[in-house]
Amino acid sequence: MNVDARGLRVVGRLVTRALANQMFLVDAVYLYMVKNERLRDVADRIGISVHWIRHEVYTIISLAGSYVYAARVVEMVYDKVRKIEPIVDPLDTDTRFKWVNAVCRICNEHLSYASARAHIDRRHRDIVATHVARIVMAL
Ligand SMILES: [Zn+2]
Repeated sequence: MNVDARGLRVVGRLVTRALANQMFLVDAVYLYMVKNERLRDVADRIGISVHWIRHEVYTIISLAGSYVYAARVVEMVYDKVRKIEPIVDPLDTDTRFKWVNAVCRICNEHLSYASARAHIDRRHRDIVATHVARIVMAL
């Protein structure tokens, strides 16, 4: 299956989460959209709120243009995204957020959980693009 421009945006989103050391959101999206597990069960197992998962799922659907296409893209790339080494190192842990403060391995900037994804999108777009291209070419 070819991945179109919308599909590439989905892959980019998943790659960014992986690089930001927020892989549990990638897992949550996969379990909910591909494995069709109940939102509540996924939230309980991973230890984050239903709201967080729903927000991530909605974002991915809006990038893809449809639920079905989003789920297909997630299914195709999940194993490869799962192997990505994060570039964000947490400095602490938190039961709800998993971590609160972190440092970027590339530029040593201190990041919060909330700022990590935007930091990668803004400053390390080239790393995201490299992973996306590698993943899509291997499909
Ligand atoms: Zn950085």
